[in-house]
Amino acid sequence: MFSTEKACREYLFRLRWPAGFICPYCGKTECWTIGEIKLRCAACRRLTSITAGTIFQDTHTPLPVWFRAIWWVTTQKNGASAMNLQRVLGLKSYETAWTWLHKFRRAMVRPGRELLSGRVEVDECYIGAPEEELRGRGNVDKALVVVAVEENGAGIGRIRFRQIPDASAATLNLFLCDSVQPGSVVRTDGWRGYQKVESLGYKHEVIVLKNKKEEASELLPRVHLVISLLRRWLMGTHQGAVSHKHLDYYLDEFTFRFNRRKSLNRGKLFYRLIQQGVAIEPVTLDMILHPDNELARRMAPAKENGTTSLPKQTNIA
Ligand SMILES: [Zn+2]
Repeated sequence: MFSTEKACREYLFRLRWPAGFICPYCGKTECWTIGEIKLRCAACRRLTSITAGTIFQDTHTPLPVWFRAIWWVTTQKNGASAMNLQRVLGLKSYETAWTWLHKFRRAMVRPGRELLSGRVEVDECYIGAPEEELRGRGNVDKALVVVAVEENGAGIGRIRFRQIPDASAATLNLFLCDSVQPGSVVRTDGWRGYQKVESLGYKHEVIVLKNKKEEASELLPRVHLVISLLRRWLMGTHQGAVSHKHLDYYLDEFTFRFNRRKSLNRGKLFYRLIQQGVAIEPVTLDMILHPDNELARRMAPAKENGTTSLPKQTNIA
């Protein structure tokens, strides 16, 4: 379907302007095609391109290669490492494959996605640490991550992650507000960071641990299953080679795959990723290499929904 530049271009056009061209400058709908990807507005005469303002902006690589990369990444059950993608596409540079995967991860979070609801298990864990690590030990080599997992009967619904600087009430409350619908039932252990959960508009179920931490895996089984799957994925597909600086985006990728794991049609993931790739702002190399600046920017829109939100810290070291 996407063996030619023209076919890819037409696909992107339809995803960007499902109801026909709309000029990004004046909002009028008539245009002329100029060359390969340029369009000239018939009203204001300004130029725009099909790829401008998308993750494909300013690319020198033919679109069919991009599409093949996205197809490969979305159809592999566990995703792909940069080395793997480089080999499959026959790319000359590892850096290109690495950068593309990071661009795709940026497109994996849908702006304004719905919050989790119903009954939600929440707990934190250290990534890069054995399960029995305890909170607050201040292990700087490990990344602290909070996890929310929706119950779906005996099974698991959708999930959310965030790398956090500490397990304080302020940090955990912020994550809950950004991730879980008020009125939901939030199940946690007895950690003091969760003491104020009811004041945020949730019903709070506290699981009391009698003695050791390892019991948590039985009392919050879904959260602990998801954590072990995440660890396996980071160690397997990515061989554990994920820096704290970029961890949030790997968490995004895991979430994207996990929340769509039951989709029988793998082509749907491909479609979703390209659709979101034309909907988000272009991702520059600078944004990928310095995610701290970008995370501050990305957290900002949450304020419009009436929830308070601060830039999250990405490096606990
Ligand atoms: Zn115009």
